[in-house]
Amino acid sequence: MPTRRQFIQQSSLLSLGSVLSPSIGMAQKKAAKIYTVTGAIDVSELGVCLTHEHIMSNFGGERSYQPNYDVAALKAQVLPYLKRIKSLEVNSILDCTTAYFGRDVQLLQELSEESEIYLITNTGYYGAANDRYIPKHAYQETAEQLAERWIQEFEKGIDQTGIRPGFVKIAADGGEVSHIDQKLMQAALKTSRATGLTIACHTGNNPAVSKLAQELMAEESVKPSVWIWTHAHQMETSEELIGAAKAGIWISLDGLRISGKDTEANQALLDRHIQHLLALKEQDLLSRVLISHDGNSFPRGGAIRPYEGIFTHFIPLLKDKRFTEQEINQLLVDNPQQAFAIVE
Ligand SMILES: [Zn+2]
Repeated sequence: MPTRRQFIQQSSLLSLGSVLSPSIGMAQKKAAKIYTVTGAIDVSELGVCLTHEHIMSNFGGERSYQPNYDVAALKAQVLPYLKRIKSLEVNSILDCTTAYFGRDVQLLQELSEESEIYLITNTGYYGAANDRYIPKHAYQETAEQLAERWIQEFEKGIDQTGIRPGFVKIAADGGEVSHIDQKLMQAALKTSRATGLTIACHTGNNPAVSKLAQELMAEESVKPSVWIWTHAHQMETSEELIGAAKAGIWISLDGLRISGKDTEANQALLDRHIQHLLALKEQDLLSRVLISHDGNSFPRGGAIRPYEGIFTHFIPLLKDKRFTEQEINQLLVDNPQQAFAIVE
């Protein structure tokens, strides 16, 4: 087993002129840690953190627990890209590829060691894409039984690797929340209560999911800060996001998948993200926001979906809109620590 590495303690890019200043709540916490694929670290070691990316996936392909990547081709594509991302001062990435569409924790561990970026994997099942990636046993088992599987992954490690998940990832389809998606949500909450793991729930523009999550959290006596409204930028207006953030839920604006050219699509993405961010800032809710790209450095049968637009496009835009260095730091450094810390 590899020894834990101190990749980079903190970023120089974003700390210029601003101290890495955890907010008051953080200072009161004791050992706040997170499990990466190379072992537990103090959350302060995350540095600049991308909270929703895919290092690789088989999304679009058949459901399969064994991803069977062409490892040589994958490494030839992903490692240089991770090195580029590292050169942008990124120190850690949460990989949101779940079991059954491409999670391979051993491979993530190798990529982490070779790129010297902390990678964090997940437990949970993906209930969006019309349930295509939900394994059959999830329909037969109860929420408790599913939670037990996920808790075991946390306590004993995933398969025989000893690698532990750093968060729970689930997903729900659009429209009325289906029975199976609700079961995944309940299993995620039970897992969170037993492990302290935070839940990223693919929600998009379906506020019904976040409303139900709030009801379930009240029933399960779980505090709303364990829940992330993933792909929240897909909402056209900001009101629901403000309401959820005020209730204590994390808002993940994670669609900054900017490609090389300044296309209209890029501009629309940037506009949507800045619109929500300004609305949340006005309500003094930046402390509840995460930003990321939902990129993929090894998508099935396609070119890299970049995860660098935050650095090449979005930060300059934030500065134009008078966001301070400290606020940018908050989004990329402080908030991920707050969101994903397991406090003991
Ligand atoms: Zn994703």
